[in-house]
Amino acid sequence: MSRIAYVNGRYVPHGSARVHIEDRGYQFADAVYEVIGIADGRFLDEDPHLDRLARSLEELRIAWPIERRALKFVLHEVARRNLVRHGLVYFQVSRGVARRDYGFPKNAKPALVVTCKHTAPPSPETGPGVAVISTPDLRWKRVDIKTTGLLGGALGKQKARENGAFEAWQVDEKGFVTEGTSSNAWIVTAEGELVTRPLGNDILAGVTRGTVAKVAATLQLKLTERPFTIAEAQRAREAFMTSATSFVTPIVRIDGKAVGEGKPGDTARRLRAEYFRAVSETAPFL
Ligand code: PMP
Repeated sequence: MSRIAYVNGRYVPHGSARVHIEDRGYQFADAVYEVIGIADGRFLDEDPHLDRLARSLEELRIAWPIERRALKFVLHEVARRNLVRHGLVYFQVSRGVARRDYGFPKNAKPALVVTCKHTAPPSPETGPGVAVISTPDLRWKRVDIKTTGLLGGALGKQKARENGAFEAWQVDEKGFVTEGTSSNAWIVTAEGELVTRPLGNDILAGVTRGTVAKVAATLQLKLTERPFTIAEAQRAREAFMTSATSFVTPIVRIDGKAVGEGKPGDTARRLRAEYFRAVSETAPFL
């Protein structure tokens, strides 16, 4: 099947989709992006992802390339043209093309690129869980803005892969976990309390994190937002990660040490199942 991408107003074959070499996304990572999961022909948490895009754009003073309603249409259209029933849509807005100069250009037009990807149908069940390793957080000080400057995370993820792990938990200078390279980090204490780091400039406000926090409240689970260390996570009853593409995924090993019994725990299992229930309420587009 030929893949279709969207680039600045045109639907084009993926293989010939192009942006200019002086696009500021390419030169400076002067661009923001979003990833929305698609399951059973539904966009999961679409509006919160668009709200976060709005915030990222505002923080960097990049204008919307097209109106929000038109963007929604394009996202759905790319997914539809690619017949994506399960997968994800990726979209990126850069400040546009301009002669290379650090300061903002006066007349650049924001550039919009949309692609999508097929995945296997996601399961509301957890599977066997994954391993994570720890790594120093090498990123800049505004990771709350979802920019395409992802080299810190890329190095962490590569280190995870080279060590047979699925994700790397990044650790700040005080020894506290910030977040995964592309996910938020959670633990469940011996008392059954959920713990995740509070929002700030040092983590991304994960949309899945927000939805899972709401789901936890409906399950009457206690949630405390505070930082935790790798040592505390290794001693925790459970650990898990959240993201638009991993949903709620149990973590069963941290730096080679088993978490709990080294198997997915009940809390992560319940949260994943309830998360799927919660996001299945929107209408399918396909
Ligand atoms: N943190 C980082 C650094 C990420 O890249 C992501 C994935 N976008 C997340 C957290 C999870 O965010 P979301 O739940 O919105 O996918």
